Amino acid sequence: MFTCTGYAAETATAPLAPFTFQRRDPGPTDVVIEILYCGVCHSDIHTVRNEWGGTLYPSLPGHEIVGKVTAVGADVTKFAVGDVAAVGCMVDSCGTCAACREGLEQYCEPGFVGTYNGRDDAAVGGHTFGGYSSHIVVTQDFVLKVPKNLDLAAAAPLLCAGITTYSPLRHWKAGPGKKVGIVGLGGLGHMGVKLAHAMGAHVVLFTTSKSKVADGKRLGADEVVLSTDPEQMKAHAESFDLIVDAVAAPHDINAYLGLVKREGTLVQVGAPDKPLAVDVFSVIWRRRNFAGSLIGGIAETQEMLDFCGEHGITSDIEMIPIDKINEAYERMLKSDVKYRFVIDMASLKKAA
Ligand code: NAP
Ligand code: ZN
Repeated sequence: MFTCTGYAAETATAPLAPFTFQRRDPGPTDVVIEILYCGVCHSDIHTVRNEWGGTLYPSLPGHEIVGKVTAVGADVTKFAVGDVAAVGCMVDSCGTCAACREGLEQYCEPGFVGTYNGRDDAAVGGHTFGGYSSHIVVTQDFVLKVPKNLDLAAAAPLLCAGITTYSPLRHWKAGPGKKVGIVGLGGLGHMGVKLAHAMGAHVVLFTTSKSKVADGKRLGADEVVLSTDPEQMKAHAESFDLIVDAVAAPHDINAYLGLVKREGTLVQVGAPDKPLAVDVFSVIWRRRNFAGSLIGGIAETQEMLDFCGEHGITSDIEMIPIDKINEAYERMLKSDVKYRFVIDMASLKKAA
């Protein structure tokens, strides 16, 4: 065991605060990473505040991790001390079920081990602690490589926001000739706009925030719709091949299903804490599909990072010291982030 520092919440109503804990010494296949940057995902807020239920405390979130390798186990072949390394939402899975064998570790049948709030018999307290911390220890098969041309801080959000939008865009074949909608210009949504644009689709952004219309176009949207304006919504009726909904709060999903064309798909990646009510006639009519998608597998995450390297895509970030994390959460709850907070982990030494 070795001592790490980080920021954790002790209860669903407590703010995140300095926290000292132990991580396992590296086993034969483990990589020890000193964390340089960690992105702030809305899932961190849902988890810390127990909005989905099942949060294990102390809760130490963070699953958009970029850092430097400081030690490797004896059997590690993919990384060496001094390498840049990245970790996303998963740190392990069973490796043997049908999903894992297909490279779909995110759908591991017994369940993958989450980077935080995951079961972990080797962890003190029995559950994993995430990236708002000085170091992390991860088996090499769940560690990713960051293309050399990408800024490391701005690449961190690719590890969740990037892969969570890339995977459904690929699965439902976003590309030239396809009309793709992205709902919500937050961390996930802004990556969705950039990625769908780079794939060659006609991209339409839906936002509730007037202040984000110009940014939507700058980020790669061909059109931006203010979703609070029924006339603007009506103009796109029954026209989309695919809509990716990345909204973090309850909202009217049927307003978007009506914009999907016959046999098209609305895929939900945003995970509000209350159910979304699908009017059955929204899907019966025009044989539409309402689907969901969870992050992406390890191989697909590497493919996404390489795609971003080729296209020079990173996240638009606002860097914060870790002692501003609670303020950052409050701003995200007001949709006030452009477009991802990233924690500069060097600030931890001063704050912890
Ligand atoms: P975020 O940065 O906070 O962005 C969410 C965006 O949703 C906001 O910027 C806002 O965009 C829109 N929004 C917020 N409240 C709204 C409301 N009441 N009505 C309509 N729109 C609203 O969040 P994020 O980190 O991108 O995460 C988005 C969601 O995806 C979260 O629920 C998160 O847990 C989930 N998630 C899922 C997966 C997965 O694997 N499926 C992975 C990661 C995250 P506008 O201002 O443009 O309207
Ligand atoms: Zn996330």
